[in-house]
Amino acid sequence: MRRPRRDSSRAPAEPAPKAPACREREATGPHPECNICRRLAVEHRIVCRIVDDALSQGLLCTVSFGDDDSRARFTIDRALIIEEATAADESFIRFHRNEDPPPAPFGWCFLVFGNSGWDVISDYTSKTESVLEGALALAEELSP
Ligand SMILES: [Zn+2]
Repeated sequence: MRRPRRDSSRAPAEPAPKAPACREREATGPHPECNICRRLAVEHRIVCRIVDDALSQGLLCTVSFGDDDSRARFTIDRALIIEEATAADESFIRFHRNEDPPPAPFGWCFLVFGNSGWDVISDYTSKTESVLEGALALAEELSP
């Protein structure tokens, strides 16, 4: 299993460059002829697929940004997980088995936004392949 690029034992490196935004989207909503809007739509589809498959396998999700946890913690709230996972340029979705207590760690995936869209899944633990199978197939399908 590869490690995420971020290493919590060291001081944070330069922040990742901010993904380009679409001003028109902010004003009037997404438009399909725009590269940025197309990329955002692809990233969103893939993240939705990850979350749907994780929840259908009975897993809880926690979203974190490097060292900081988001509002989505040990939850099955689909909308919240997707909102938080797509809120930063990089995020982790951590999966937990729904055991009581505490939720047992299952694995994670690391998402990087702002590249080609279909490559949003940057890294993941090998065990997580069972969760990501559908999303990875979708990413493959959406790649040029
Ligand atoms: Zn746009």
